[in-house]
Amino acid sequence: SVKAVMICGENGKFSAGADIKGFSSPKRRGIALGPIVSLIERSEKPVVAAIEGVALGGGLEVALGCHYRIAHVKARMGLPEVTIGLLPGAEGTQRLPRLVGVPAALDMITTGKVLCLVIPPAWPKTHEFLLPMYLPDVDALFCNSIFLPPGQPLGPRRLSLKPVPKLPNMEAFLSEALVKVKKQAHGCLAPELCFQAVKAATEQPFADGVRREQELFNVLLTSGQAQALQYAFFAERAVQKWTTPSGASWKISDSVSLLSLGLGTMGRGIVTSLVKAKIPVVALEQDLEYLNMGRKAVMFLLEREAMKMEQGAQTLDFHNPARLQFTVDFDVLRDVDLVIEAVFENMALKKEIFHKLSRICKPGAFLCTNTSALNINEIASATSRPQQVIGTHFFSPAHVMKLLEIIYGHHTSPTTIATAMQLAKVLKKVGVVVGNCFGFAGNRMMFPYAQQAVFLLEEGSRPEAVDQVIEDFGFRIGPFRMSDLAGLDVGTPARQRHGHRYSPLPDLLCENGRFGQKTGKGWYQYEKAGGRTAKPDPWLHSFLSQYRDTHRIKTRFIDQEEILERCLFSLINEGFDILAEGIASGPEHLDVIYINGYGWPKHRGGPMFYASTVGLSRILAKLQKYSEAHPDVPGLQPSAFLKKLVAMGNPPLKEWMSYLSRPNNKL
Ligand code: NAD
Repeated sequence: SVKAVMICGENGKFSAGADIKGFSSPKRRGIALGPIVSLIERSEKPVVAAIEGVALGGGLEVALGCHYRIAHVKARMGLPEVTIGLLPGAEGTQRLPRLVGVPAALDMITTGKVLCLVIPPAWPKTHEFLLPMYLPDVDALFCNSIFLPPGQPLGPRRLSLKPVPKLPNMEAFLSEALVKVKKQAHGCLAPELCFQAVKAATEQPFADGVRREQELFNVLLTSGQAQALQYAFFAERAVQKWTTPSGASWKISDSVSLLSLGLGTMGRGIVTSLVKAKIPVVALEQDLEYLNMGRKAVMFLLEREAMKMEQGAQTLDFHNPARLQFTVDFDVLRDVDLVIEAVFENMALKKEIFHKLSRICKPGAFLCTNTSALNINEIASATSRPQQVIGTHFFSPAHVMKLLEIIYGHHTSPTTIATAMQLAKVLKKVGVVVGNCFGFAGNRMMFPYAQQAVFLLEEGSRPEAVDQVIEDFGFRIGPFRMSDLAGLDVGTPARQRHGHRYSPLPDLLCENGRFGQKTGKGWYQYEKAGGRTAKPDPWLHSFLSQYRDTHRIKTRFIDQEEILERCLFSLINEGFDILAEGIASGPEHLDVIYINGYGWPKHRGGPMFYASTVGLSRILAKLQKYSEAHPDVPGLQPSAFLKKLVAMGNPPLKEWMSYLSRPNNKL
């Protein structure tokens, strides 16, 4: 007597897919979903997926096994398995191309993007993805046979029986798509294997395609990359739970109107981020000339963001003066709840500004500084409310980069930390709470890395060789290309000279007018000033040889292994010191900083996770070897904490913090 079956979810969500924790433990993996999806599809009664909220991963694969799909206009759908190093393993790579065609399926499966109900032009304009729906009415809708006229055969509704829509130039399309997928993957395996699974759908019958999907899924499941990406997924959630050594932990506070001070490179991105998050913002500059320049730049960024958002059927209102004001009048400070200062990196100026802020702002207002390395305590000392002063370190471009490093000082209150974390969340950024030290956590770990890169040049390597090794590892950009991009003249001084090795090479380049991309020359040469294509530069090579001759440095061949180890292991070594000093609450915090702010390849899990996969004893042995060869480089001397962990038998990453004698606050 049953006419049709409808599958829907509880509480406004269809299904978010598998429990990710299950992937790493074979015991929890349970029954495979693919055969269940097939069973649904084989049903003699029509089965309808009624999608509300989200249908992701395995959830969407269930919907693909149904004979009909209808969705609420606000539903979001996607196959995000690739982002955790896997592929849709419940026959989704075989059914989706049959439904939406190869180009759209490849796009969804290899990127993991989640789509709203704006139908990409390549998708067939069928009613099934478009129908606005109100769930309580859905039974009536179906049973009144809008979709299910009696006697309609189910065969044509079974996706596994449909052919994959042909493209006139399928082969050429696939080889082009593969090049693109590989280029964007930066060494991550999953996108390419997702591609292979979809390709199988174009070449083989459904059942063979499913077998291929399974094979590829198993390759990914047992690759270290899937584990690294799943670790990164959970680490990002773990950092939302912050603690300070004094025992403070997370709380929520709400603030409404914000002020951004300084509209330079960083201020522009910060204002854009705030407006996008629909936070009323006042942008303040030192004079009208700077204000107008800043306003123009912000409007340009916002126009571009608005265009991008329109493609996703969202709007961005930035012409409303109640939401965005530009001013040079410090009096507006009286009404704001939170200030983000992004003026020049100069302690005297920052202190003067914070003194002024402390006098003018209302008592409850929070005062944040975007300094990249200055001492938060010293800045706070210029105010009468150091408990409300905090570092909010954005990364450039601030409206794009996801990381917000949040630095507490001696007196910063838990409510202030909570407010900064809440701000990160509202801005859709990843906030990570760290303690106050030179360079904080991220830049501090970057210094020994950048230092090693330059030392390697002194000893015989070339910028392109070092960059290549780091980019092959998975970074988007190596240290020298990065230095040319940022400008050699703005690098934070990475080394002290007190009896320790120091390389004047970056300074010498600046003296030769080579500031990087902006002057068309740096570690590389560019087609013109402001050019972006880096070419190895014979001038630099002969400059390096002369330099080595002058300093009587014997040139030697440096292999890829040494380049990688000296750069990365010194960065990791600093990470162990940071953990031991209590500057970061755990290795996950450093990994999340590196993945979201420094381009560390996610499929390698972050520097500390990577260290755990390489093995701490190996890292220690290598650091010992390199520090013996370079006794004047403190960055290569193994951290005491690393040595301790090795002595304790190389415990798993989750247990590292329990080996510190400092009391570890439980939340
Ligand atoms: P910038 O030189 O591009 O901009 C600074 C702006 O502050 C200028 O527009 C200037 O007019 C304004 N300003 C100066 N004094 C002012 C005053 N008294 N009142 C109002 N505005 C004033 O500098 P930036 O690169 O945007 O850096 C700003 C801060 O952010 C620095 O502390 C820097 O260390 C930090 N930071 C920079 C980066 C980066 O990549 N550029 C990254 C992270 C943090």
